[in-house]
Amino acid sequence: MAENTQAALDAQADVVIVGAGFGGLECAMGLGRAGVDTLVIDRRNHNLFQPLLYQVATAALSPADIAEPIRKTLGRYQSVRVMLAEVTDIQDSAVVLSDGRRVGFGKLVIATGSDYTYFGHDDWREHAPGLKSLREARKIRQRLLMAFEAAETTRDPAKRKALLTTAIVGGGPTGVEMAGAVAELGRFMIRRDFRALEVRDMRVLLIEAGPRILAGFPANLSDYAAGRLRRAGVEIMLDAPVEAIAPGELVVSDAPIAVGCIIWAAGIKPSPAAGWLGLEQAAKGRIPVDDGLAVIGRPDIYAMGDTASMPTPLPGLAQVAKQQGRWLGARLVAEISGQPPAETFRFRNRGNTAMIGRNAAVFDFGTWQLTGPLAWFLWAFVHVALLVNFEKKLLVAVQWTARYVTRQRGARLIEEDNPTVPRID
Ligand SMILES: Cc1cc2nc3c(=O)[nH]c(=O)nc-3n(C[C@H](O)[C@H](O)[C@H](O)COP(=O)(O)OP(=O)(O)OC[C@H]3O[C@@H](n4cnc5c(N)ncnc54)[C@H](O)[C@@H]3O)c2cc1C
Repeated sequence: MAENTQAALDAQADVVIVGAGFGGLECAMGLGRAGVDTLVIDRRNHNLFQPLLYQVATAALSPADIAEPIRKTLGRYQSVRVMLAEVTDIQDSAVVLSDGRRVGFGKLVIATGSDYTYFGHDDWREHAPGLKSLREARKIRQRLLMAFEAAETTRDPAKRKALLTTAIVGGGPTGVEMAGAVAELGRFMIRRDFRALEVRDMRVLLIEAGPRILAGFPANLSDYAAGRLRRAGVEIMLDAPVEAIAPGELVVSDAPIAVGCIIWAAGIKPSPAAGWLGLEQAAKGRIPVDDGLAVIGRPDIYAMGDTASMPTPLPGLAQVAKQQGRWLGARLVAEISGQPPAETFRFRNRGNTAMIGRNAAVFDFGTWQLTGPLAWFLWAFVHVALLVNFEKKLLVAVQWTARYVTRQRGARLIEEDNPTVPRID
């Protein structure tokens, strides 16, 4: 156990990891395998597979398909403890929890990820939830399904069209995936399950402030994605920054648009952890780390994933966080057991991808690319492979196969606690 001379510690460990997302969990498993005394702190009790949140929001998967209790994953490692708590600060060699408790560390790993930014309009979040948590994905699913229910019973054609309009703000991979999935879900539900609705009344708007969607991909892949989305009935609005959002309405280029559901998929900001170290001004709010993921000036603290910035910045991707977590786990084991640790983390790019819809996806491997059904199959294969355990892999693979054959969406549930009807004035 690390020496910790500070008074009034409520717990302590040789290694404390804050955040059990993609990076933190990999790191904890590496330390657990080597028997290192480790405490993992997360404000959620589950690890969340964020890349498939849009499938929960569009009723293709259930929340439990993409979330796994952290205790279940780490329970097999005797030297690893788990604490459900929110970290709010770091003081000397202790993290401070939201209830004032303090946890001492020998080494600290910060893996607290990122959140959506509403570019100074935090009040928009209530009307335009993003896809960062199960709660938000369920809220979107609820609003989408309620808009269709309300449209079925209204006699006012203008109101019906407004309720059947879904706006997705942000044309990155999440916005593209969401737009394709909403178009498929809406068409399927109207054709099969709703008697008073017509497919021609449905609108899916993908609103992007920049000149093209999938700006992080080569231009030809953006064009391919835009073509496929338009064929699926998605209207793409480019150079169209959103100016205002209110219940049932958003304003784009001075024009108000009445909508049944708004989904936010624009702009990511790092977690506030840089502020705990007094570094919030550096690296756009990310914590600056060296090539070995150590925080500059604090060799006992490491950061990784979406909340860290290496000398050569890496994109905010699950594969980056996972690789860093695995590497840092091995480095810390070497350090603690007195062996010379590896000093430089090297990212191996496994390809950047986005799903567009049935039989359509894009893959960018840098030197070569893939589109169409093969990319779609590879996307599905990779995402199943990345799920946290065999049970989840099997469950999701079976459900996707059934959905591919039947086109059914099994998780079309409107929960009873808050079935609010969308407001269209
Ligand atoms: C909708 C969506 C789709 C995505 N799709 C893809 C994709 O297809 N491919 C891809 O590579 N990447 C994708 N990403 C990005 C990917 O999910 C992130 O890059 C990855 O999750 C970063 O991992 P991380 O370990 O840094 O943080 P996360 O995985 O976000 O984990 C952070 C953890 O820290 C915890 N935490 C945060 N703050 C505190 C605190 N103060 N106290 C305690 N615990 C805290 C959180 O509860 C969470 O468990 C997507 C992201 C989103 C939101």
